[in-house]
Amino acid sequence: MKYCRVCFRPIKTSHLRTFIEKEPFICDDCLAKIVVDLHKRKHFNISILFLSVYAGALKDWLFQYKGNFDIELAPCFLFLFVPLLKVLYRNYIFIPLPSSKEKEEKRRFSHLEEMLRSYQFSYLRAFEKSTDEQKEKLRTERYTDAGIKLIIDPKQLENKKIVLFDDIFTTGNTFKSSVNLLKNVKVKAIKGLILLDNFMIEQRKLN
Ligand SMILES: [Zn+2]
Repeated sequence: MKYCRVCFRPIKTSHLRTFIEKEPFICDDCLAKIVVDLHKRKHFNISILFLSVYAGALKDWLFQYKGNFDIELAPCFLFLFVPLLKVLYRNYIFIPLPSSKEKEEKRRFSHLEEMLRSYQFSYLRAFEKSTDEQKEKLRTERYTDAGIKLIIDPKQLENKKIVLFDDIFTTGNTFKSSVNLLKNVKVKAIKGLILLDNFMIEQRKLN
C-alpha cells in the first residue's frame, strides 16, 4: 500500500493514474487541491511564466517543505506541470534563483534543486546569496544590492538557453538582480518560471 506524501492516507486511485504514473505518490484528493493558474507577465524585459498563485494548498505545502524540511514533498510542486514544462523548456537549462545560505544549511537541501531533480530537469547552480556576515562587506565584493553574485564562469552560459526558476515572486528583487548579473553574459535566451505568483498591484506601483 502506498501512502500520500501530503496527507499520509493510503492512495486509492484509478487504474488510469496507476497506469500513467506507475507509482502515484499523491492521492486524488490532494491532487485536486492544486490550483493551476497559468499566466505570463513580463518583468525586467523577461517573459515569466507563473504556474499558480501564492494561496491555498501549494502555499501550505511549500511552507511544510521549506519550513519543516519535509523533503518528501519535493515532487508534489511541479507534478501537474511537468509535461508542459518538458515541452516549453526543451533544450533549456534551469537556473534556480538563490536563497539564503543560512536557511539552506539548516534545511540541508536546496528546495528548488530538489523540485527540478524529481523530474530530471537539467539545472545549474549559478548564483549565490550572501550570508548576513558577508552583507557587511558587500561593497568590496561582487554582490548586487540583493546580495547575489554569479559563482560560475560566465562562459558556461554562453549560447545557452536558460530559465530562471524560483518558487515565489513577490517584489521581484532577487529576479531583477539575477537578470542584471547576466547582462554581459552572451546567453541565447532567458525566460522566467515561477511556481507561485505573489506580486501585488501595490508593489507594482512602488516599482
Ligand atoms: Zn493526500
